[in-house]
Amino acid sequence: METKSREIYLDNSATTRVYPEVAALMNRIFLEEYGNPSSMHHKGVEAERQLRQARQILAGILKGKEKNLIFTSCGTEADNLALIGAARANARSGKHLITTRIEHPAVLETMKYLESEGFEVTYLPVDAEGVVSPDDVADAVREDTILVSVMHTNNEIGTVEPVAEIGAAIKARNPRTLFHVDAVQGFGKAAIYPKRMHIDLLTASGHKIHGPKGVGVLYVADQVRLRTILYGGGQQGGMRSGTENVPGIAGMALAAQLSYQTLEEDQRRLRAMKTAFVERVSRIDGIRFNGRTDEKSAAHIISLSAEGVRAEVLLHALEDRGIYVSSGSACASNRPHISETLLAIGTPKEYLESTIRISTSVMNTPEDLESAAAALEELLPMLRRYTRH
Ligand code: PLP
Repeated sequence: METKSREIYLDNSATTRVYPEVAALMNRIFLEEYGNPSSMHHKGVEAERQLRQARQILAGILKGKEKNLIFTSCGTEADNLALIGAARANARSGKHLITTRIEHPAVLETMKYLESEGFEVTYLPVDAEGVVSPDDVADAVREDTILVSVMHTNNEIGTVEPVAEIGAAIKARNPRTLFHVDAVQGFGKAAIYPKRMHIDLLTASGHKIHGPKGVGVLYVADQVRLRTILYGGGQQGGMRSGTENVPGIAGMALAAQLSYQTLEEDQRRLRAMKTAFVERVSRIDGIRFNGRTDEKSAAHIISLSAEGVRAEVLLHALEDRGIYVSSGSACASNRPHISETLLAIGTPKEYLESTIRISTSVMNTPEDLESAAAALEELLPMLRRYTRH
């Protein structure tokens, strides 16, 4: 049998491999500390202790309190709870919501749903680099605006939004307007302090930070009114019924702890890898990078378009060499779909279906990106010849 050459996984914004320490902890909880945290006996107490520890870790990272956290089944559920929960709980103060055109479907589709419930949603534009202007946000805030949702880091092009400035601008205009930040792509990669950044609701997810899939967390600031979207046994103070995913929650917290322990040096390393890659690949004809590539962009996300080559063709040609990337226009599931983000930043038509996303993590080495750059140098002229015939 042919032996498969080394795999180079560059799709870390889709999901990550768990840290071995996380797998070991989860395994122990699955096999030994498997109790239901609501049970009154020793096994329950053991599981409750794991939950408590996870809360302490995550609250410490976000500089919040343990009671500010609600565990969910994923980032998507946390976004749904933030938006639907806040809209329903605050509908008497107004029915206006604001978001941007480049949010993840977990926010955009939820906003569409809220429109069907009678809420009015303003979708703000972004500039050519995907940045939302704090002034535009402030101008859109009205007396009846109950919530603004802006992502921390864009999942397709890696734009990092000025969330602290946006938060300040919202509160200056209307102190009652809530500010939600989808930080699924930013948590674990940047210091995020909700209180200091005027953030009332913040979403994070386990599987983007070398934690497990199927677990997310919503930070809810003190005094924020939220109505549950899931009814049942009343766990988590009635805000999110359902037996807690103890191994997942503990795994996510440990992954976050490990990520933040070495955050600065990891970010410097990823930044150097991105800069070297961009420098080398920009020398190839017909390459365009989407969003920023400088130190203001996320160090782990690179979006590039290769004129004249369909993304799927390039993706599979790279895969043949053991290099895994994603198609920049596939949003979240594998439905064929033109990316709203690429449209919103004004990407020319000829590039829309030729965009791939390369996303790194602490588990990648500079050699991984060098191999990807070398593969692009070799493949693109070949694939173009093929396409033009
Ligand atoms: N928000 C953003 C910005 C994301 O990138 C993702 C996942 O790709 C989500 C939300 C959804 O997170 P989850 O996969 O945990 O539901």
